[in-house]
Amino acid sequence: MFHGSCLCGAIGLTIDAPLKDPIACHCEQCRQQSGHYFSAVPAPKFALHVTGDTNLKWFRASDIASRGFCKVCGSTLFWRPDDGPTIMVASAALDTPTGLRLSGHYWCDHKGDYYAIPDALPRYQGDSK
Ligand SMILES: [Zn+2]
Ligand SMILES: [Zn+2]
Repeated sequence: MFHGSCLCGAIGLTIDAPLKDPIACHCEQCRQQSGHYFSAVPAPKFALHVTGDTNLKWFRASDIASRGFCKVCGSTLFWRPDDGPTIMVASAALDTPTGLRLSGHYWCDHKGDYYAIPDALPRYQGDSK
């Protein structure tokens, strides 16, 4: 069982399932919304329970997915594809210790030019494995 919240606490979340390790996404949308590259954990949609969801705002960022954030404090919280059983939950929203470890970098071909990827984890172009 994982717990978490946005920065102001208006939104709380619980994930009642084991979690895979988080990924880092370097795509332009993640960078623009979060302020840097974005780390998120894949979670089963059915296992995610949100409290205070009247404060949750969804931004339709593309034809395939929406991005959820707290409309009070602005915390980036979710990337939710329309299809499939999985929602991506911001790693930073989870209470520590998470016991999770970053597993790889995605959309590296879209990363910003102002930083270097700082570790030796696997790197992918786009979201391909
Ligand atoms: Zn908030
Ligand atoms: Zn991204």
